[in-house]
Amino acid sequence: MKTNDEAEMQWICEKCNEKLVMEKTSVIYLDADFQVELLKCPRCGMVFIDEEMARGKILEVEKALEDK
Ligand SMILES: [Zn+2]
Repeated sequence: MKTNDEAEMQWICEKCNEKLVMEKTSVIYLDADFQVELLKCPRCGMVFIDEEMARGKILEVEKALEDK
């Protein structure tokens, strides 16, 4: 995994050399199924989760739980 332009946060799948796209993906957290947008390779379907991004997503999920 590498970026070709960090300013644009453009992530490339090293295996396919394809730009990763944001896609709604199911994530299991706290025994619940959440739809979150994650970076995914459109060719091989590999999901890339940046640790910092994952933390942000979990915060979003926790917020969503609190709102219920
Ligand atoms: Zn790929």
